[in-house]
Amino acid sequence: MNSLYRAAIKLGVTLTPSQLQSFEIYFRELVAWNEKVNLTGITDYEEVQIKHFLDSLTVATAFSPEDLAHPVRCIDIGTGAGLPGIPLKIVFPQLQFVLLEATTKKTKFLEYLVDKLELKDVDIVTGRAEEVARDDAYRGNFNVVVSRAVAALPVLAELCLPFCAVGGTFIAQKKGDVGEEISRSVKAIDVLGGRLCDVKKVELEEFADNRVLVIIKKISATPPSYPRRPGIPAKRPISP
Ligand code: SAH
Repeated sequence: MNSLYRAAIKLGVTLTPSQLQSFEIYFRELVAWNEKVNLTGITDYEEVQIKHFLDSLTVATAFSPEDLAHPVRCIDIGTGAGLPGIPLKIVFPQLQFVLLEATTKKTKFLEYLVDKLELKDVDIVTGRAEEVARDDAYRGNFNVVVSRAVAALPVLAELCLPFCAVGGTFIAQKKGDVGEEISRSVKAIDVLGGRLCDVKKVELEEFADNRVLVIIKKISATPPSYPRRPGIPAKRPISP
């Protein structure tokens, strides 16, 4: 069995032959499309298994049993080539997923891939989080919001928390010195209706760069003035 299979066991995930087959197809298509569309800087087989696929699956360690017990609505903000959303969907097919991405070239890839992998209950949305979060079909409508490598936490909170239902959870994948990033985002999290709930270390020997999951609960509705216009959250982050 390959390195993804072996490492996933440490996360409590035993990949089935059909899931492993899906990851093989995902790898092949990612690398093939990467010739034409800028999807990833990582194309080596082993590196993709660990740095993209395994890393995405670490998010599951922040899921609650209820998240996995019944159909839960999840959204991946700035999913790029489908990370972490597609690996999570492959392993937990009961999750309903919206994959949100601003770049049409990337969502074309996602449409092709989701069809090729025959994934059900996956909606691909091309748009900016700042605009899509204004649509009632999306705003406040997700039990779980995930995001990887999109923005610093004060900015990310503004892009992600509006999508989260009250009582739901926003899980941000972060690495490095997150202490400072978190202290800069306390105000933003509060203003947007969130509460920092946990910073969970990813304890895997495969990663030596202090990866964590920042887990934020949505405790009240995001005020209507957020998110601000496209680009403003990054230009003028909500600051303490
Ligand atoms: N989550 C993926 C991609 C990270 S790169 C991964 O971990 O590999 C960041 C992605 O977020 C890019 O594809 C970019 O187009 C998208 N993005 C950045 N800001 C966004 C916004 N405001 N709304 C939607 N997508 C955004």
